[in-house]
Amino acid sequence: MSEQTALQTAYPAIVTRGDLGHFIDGGWHVSDGERLDTWNPATGEVLTTLARGTSADVDRAVASSRRAFEGPWSRFTPYQRQMALHRLHDLVDAHWEELCLIESLDVGVPLARMHATKDWTLRLIAYFASQATAGAGETLPNSMPGNFTTMTLKAPVGVVGGIIPWNGPLMSEWWIVAAALATGCTAVMKPAEDASLSVLRTAELVMEAGVPAGVVNVVTGLGREAGAALAAHPDVDRIAFTGSTETGREIIRASAVNMKRLQLELGGKSPDIVFADADLDVAVPGAAMGVFANSGQVCFAGTRVFVQRSIQDEFVARMAEFTRQIRVGDPLDLDTQLGPLISDKQLERVMGYVDIGGREGAELVVGGRRMGGAHANGFFVEPTIFSQVSNDMRIAREEIFGPVISVIPFDTAEDALRLANDTVYGLGGAVWSRDVGTVNTMVRGIQAGMVWVNCYGITDPSIGFGGYKQSGYGWKGGPQHIEGFLYQKAVYINGD
Ligand code: ADP
Repeated sequence: MSEQTALQTAYPAIVTRGDLGHFIDGGWHVSDGERLDTWNPATGEVLTTLARGTSADVDRAVASSRRAFEGPWSRFTPYQRQMALHRLHDLVDAHWEELCLIESLDVGVPLARMHATKDWTLRLIAYFASQATAGAGETLPNSMPGNFTTMTLKAPVGVVGGIIPWNGPLMSEWWIVAAALATGCTAVMKPAEDASLSVLRTAELVMEAGVPAGVVNVVTGLGREAGAALAAHPDVDRIAFTGSTETGREIIRASAVNMKRLQLELGGKSPDIVFADADLDVAVPGAAMGVFANSGQVCFAGTRVFVQRSIQDEFVARMAEFTRQIRVGDPLDLDTQLGPLISDKQLERVMGYVDIGGREGAELVVGGRRMGGAHANGFFVEPTIFSQVSNDMRIAREEIFGPVISVIPFDTAEDALRLANDTVYGLGGAVWSRDVGTVNTMVRGIQAGMVWVNCYGITDPSIGFGGYKQSGYGWKGGPQHIEGFLYQKAVYINGD
């Protein structure tokens, strides 16, 4: 048996079964409609095919989620939902190797990176399990005559539509699935057409955890079809969306039909500001991996690296040296640090921006090419650094979503803040400095939903993150996230 065949036989069933439908009402719903190819981005080969969801499929999934919400799921106590989340936590733990392999084949994420996210994913599920019994209203004082007791109660909003992107479905789905389970909501997930497999597999695990059929449904398909149908569906109460700012706008418009509650995590062009007094041993790899991690396909990637002019040359030289040593290649090789981009479309987009950077007069320091040789058929781009970038160039203003860093010089802290905030986005931002005064000024001044100091890209489920400006709204993580899945009701009890 050749090595390739040996690996094929070890592929998870979700990859090899070949007849994937939607996951509705606790089982596979094989759609009669058209099918979509989904690729292995490391080889450029078709991995399997997905059902191309129609609005009828979305109707079926939403009706199933509504039935579950009003029926069996409504009779689960908070403790029972918590236990279901604990079982799911253990199932995800037990199936982690399989889930990593699915994600790696489907998205191109290196297995090593997947292994590193295990603890984070399990913590996220555990956090939401803890919240199942924590959501509470308040007994509030009132100033009314008579004998009134007044309080607020919390109730699940109902059916939540989860529309998520391709850059890490196994991580992003839990913000919705686990929060729905914790609060008593139900969810219809619409994963991205390029990366649906781990979400489908998770739906099976949700059933295995003893959650009633219909609580978590999955409809696969295109954004403008299944996604748009879900966003506009009159019986969906809330949409949790992660994706581009442009699609976010469409979802806002579609939500008007029934005033859906929204949580939107959108694009970014996050500033990462390095002062001359920073510890460069930490700042250089930190700022580089703040962009290159997941091949730059991270919404809060710190793609505009502002470097104080006095250390500009040293910083760029050290970052280039670090970048040349990054191991890019086969995601299944445990030594690989960076995998391919998700698709040929994304590859074209990133290469287009490399071209634009050159034409705009930025200096290409390292990278900038599609990889050839053994990787010629995959969607690989070398990690790329541009220096001498100015904040008004397109590569510094538009979200590239690839491994491309723009290094932009600055002189003073005021300068850095003005440039950092001169963007329509406000998702993340970071400062590298050992001076507490500088740090305080930047932490207060950066207009973003997350600010990191002497680190980049860390998130914790109990703290979470959000967006300023066109990076979206609706806090993700922590008690505020849970609030988003709940209605609040004021109760006035007349005791006279
Ligand atoms: P990206 O540029 O990262 O692919 P998108 O915003 O296009 O981001 O996609 C994120 C998710 O939104 C995907 O699941 C996609 O299918 C879905 N989507 C795209 N367009 C729409 C739309 N008009 N309505 C609802 N969902 C959409």
